[in-house]
Amino acid sequence: MDPSVRLQVRQRAGHRCEYCRFPEAYAAFTPFHVEHIVAKQHGGGDHPSNLALACHHCNHHKGPNLTGIDPRTKMIAKLFHPRRHDWRHHFRWDGHVLVGRTAIGRATIAVLQMNDPDALNDRDALLEEGLFP
Ligand SMILES: [Zn+2]
Repeated sequence: MDPSVRLQVRQRAGHRCEYCRFPEAYAAFTPFHVEHIVAKQHGGGDHPSNLALACHHCNHHKGPNLTGIDPRTKMIAKLFHPRRHDWRHHFRWDGHVLVGRTAIGRATIAVLQMNDPDALNDRDALLEEGLFP
């Protein structure tokens, strides 16, 4: 992937994970990953419209997944697509806990394990310092 494309993705994301919004500057595992939203194995390419900045945690748990199960309805739901979906439509904060407003939001939180204890601890520390969200 072209380094200028990677830089473009980082800047477009404001140096925050495009899933959990964690700021790269405060992450334990840096740099964040420029990830393929639709994985190459599913035909996704290197065009910026298929790329997103993701923290280590979100990138690791998302893997090549495109869908998950909405824990409320038990139905298959698409995962959040940072280029096509509006983050605020699908997610909201309740303190340091990320809440899904939609099936897409809830399924994404479940698959990416965005409220696991490590993620909550990391966000809590920043929240106390006024650095998050
Ligand atoms: Zn993240």
